[in-house]
Amino acid sequence: MIDFSLTQEQEMLQSLAREFAQNEISPIVQIIEESNNSEMEPWDFSKNVFYKGSELGFTSLMVPKELGGVGGKCIDLAVVLEEIGAVDVSIACSYFNLTAAMSLFVSRAATQEQQERILSFVKSGKPHLFSAAESEPNVATSDMFCPFPNSNIGMKTFAAREGNRYILNGTKSSLVTNAGIADAYFIIARTAMDKPLHESLSIFYVPGDTPRIKFGKKTQMIGWKASHHAEIYLDNVPIPAQNLIGLEGGAAKLLMLLPEVAIGPAASYVGLARAAYEYALNYAKQRVSWGRPIIEHQAVALKLADMMINTQAARLIVWDAAVTAETSPQLAATIKAPAAKTFAVDVAIKNAQMAVEILGGYGVTKECLAGKFLGDATIGYSCDFTREVLRLGIVNFL
Ligand SMILES: Cc1cc2nc3c(=O)[nH]c(=O)nc-3n(C[C@H](O)[C@H](O)[C@H](O)COP(=O)(O)OP(=O)(O)OC[C@H]3O[C@@H](n4cnc5c(N)ncnc54)[C@H](O)[C@@H]3O)c2cc1C
Repeated sequence: MIDFSLTQEQEMLQSLAREFAQNEISPIVQIIEESNNSEMEPWDFSKNVFYKGSELGFTSLMVPKELGGVGGKCIDLAVVLEEIGAVDVSIACSYFNLTAAMSLFVSRAATQEQQERILSFVKSGKPHLFSAAESEPNVATSDMFCPFPNSNIGMKTFAAREGNRYILNGTKSSLVTNAGIADAYFIIARTAMDKPLHESLSIFYVPGDTPRIKFGKKTQMIGWKASHHAEIYLDNVPIPAQNLIGLEGGAAKLLMLLPEVAIGPAASYVGLARAAYEYALNYAKQRVSWGRPIIEHQAVALKLADMMINTQAARLIVWDAAVTAETSPQLAATIKAPAAKTFAVDVAIKNAQMAVEILGGYGVTKECLAGKFLGDATIGYSCDFTREVLRLGIVNFL
């Protein structure tokens, strides 16, 4: 049986997230967007809404109840992130999705001792921000999807075992989300340089106050103004061996079982697509040309119909991936989640572009939101892997 309806609890969660996003996140986003100060630190403005959203359970939605979480499903996260993404996709992806997905990762892949230690903040109710770093400045991140067994390809950050600790050396790219502001990091490094990437990647839990880890200055981007990205410098950083999650060389396999990492951004981009559509619809009902509202001109009306249809199609592909994540995680991780992320971002970019057009000259002014939608949507092309590489990854499993 196929049932696309949300349960009563999910509808309540959706309303809660919608009210929170519109009443509490939206005013913060407005301040950040209107600031012309490139030195402005968005986290100073966003942290209170992140803390409040965490208290509402949005970052522990999928953490099992035994660990203090909500014990919910991937579809719950998708519903929440669509609402937050409709207000600001960078807040949805950077703060809420990243922390929710990495918390889930720990609850699935870590030992019981690690789960209790790393996720102790969930039970104590003290909000925690996570970051995850694989990208490096002089290495194509797309190499993560490379099928060739050549050990020279890909990541260079290295973790050398020394007794009961590892010593990490390397640099992570200026795009790493939350670098410098997170409470803790999941750093992917190689534990063997003579093996292919997929057999040599390991993942380490690294608290933010670990000695010898340093961060670059905030990266300026064409959108995602509410998030913080910077380089990470690892100079002989000592990590206790008990902070290795899973086995040495096992990171690629573990991350394959985390489709939620791509489903979260996908849901956030459905939110952006919906927001661009609703913004343009509202304008088209009010703007008058040739003596009638522009929605009555077919050239405009057809664009609005396409925007609505595409948004609905994107939501369904995301919900399908979210439901599959519960029943068949491997199918979700290899095909449905990357497909959902690719499609949702494409729709967000198209809707943002059409919103700019429907708003005419006003569409390219700073006081109108259409330009923000387009900048934020374009960033979706490459965050969490590019659409080319995601699609090439899918083909490997067809
Ligand atoms: C907003 C944002 C947030 C991010 N957050 C994080 C984070 O938290 N942690 C982190 O580690 N990284 C993060 N990244 C980095 C992100 O994962 C990479 O930028 C992305 O995967 C693309 O990698 P790249 O920039 O190295 O591009 P490259 O891999 O150098 O690709 C360049 C171009 O070549 C194409 N290309 C490359 N290889 C192939 C191929 N084999 N076949 C066809 N085309 C190919 C790509 O599609 C792309 O068009 C973030 C990026 C952004 C934009």
